[in-house]
Amino acid sequence: MTIGSNIASIRQRIADAERQHGRVTGSVKLLAVTKKHTADDIIAAYLAGQTAFGENYLQEALAKMSLLADKKIEWHFIGPIQSNKTRKIAEHFAWVQSVDSAKIAKRLNDQRPEHLPALNICIEVNISHEQSKSGIIIDEVAGLAAYCQTLPRLQLRGLMAIPKEAEQFEEQRKTFRQLNQLYQDLCAQGLPLDTLSMGMSEDFEAAIAEGATMVRIGTAIFGERV
Ligand SMILES: *Cc1c(COP(=O)(O)O)cnc(C)c1O
Repeated sequence: MTIGSNIASIRQRIADAERQHGRVTGSVKLLAVTKKHTADDIIAAYLAGQTAFGENYLQEALAKMSLLADKKIEWHFIGPIQSNKTRKIAEHFAWVQSVDSAKIAKRLNDQRPEHLPALNICIEVNISHEQSKSGIIIDEVAGLAAYCQTLPRLQLRGLMAIPKEAEQFEEQRKTFRQLNQLYQDLCAQGLPLDTLSMGMSEDFEAAIAEGATMVRIGTAIFGERV
């Protein structure tokens, strides 16, 4: 299997899931997750038409960005964020999907360079209530969303989550349904959101069934990370 053919097969599975679950064709965006994979791997995916890439580690991402500076890539930061990393993240990424505190949101807002458009962000939700996971608890999402709306250099696009692994399709769906409910509640309150980022290699079809607008896929495209 090559990266190009894996991309094609994932795109096909996304299209099949859209059709099967009554979703509009093309309504689910693919983010290719490239942590621990090389710039050459990114080029292979890029040549297969993939332009949105997700990275988890700042230093690793910056190294690849400098090698790929001539490519039109939309970079998403999806890893845990330490305060001392916010400036570089605000300078180099188009999206940050892992915002989980007012403090980090404020820093990203204040550090987003003037010459760039507002930084697209998602609030990361700890949907499965795991102690070890990043993300904000469900009860605090609405408050953080309202706060982000007041920050002019951020554009709040929606929610992101990494649920606890579940084997069964129905079990996977249940957690994604909860996240979608939270998302719908925010939309009903008038927030202009358009992004529900959920679903990875092992569960993206369940996420699409429950309303994902973006799936984040690494292993199924690039193989195991070492
Ligand atoms: C690594 C990662 C992914 C991709 O996971 P796979 O199981 O390799 O598809 C998606 N989202 C986030 C936030 C990740 O850290």
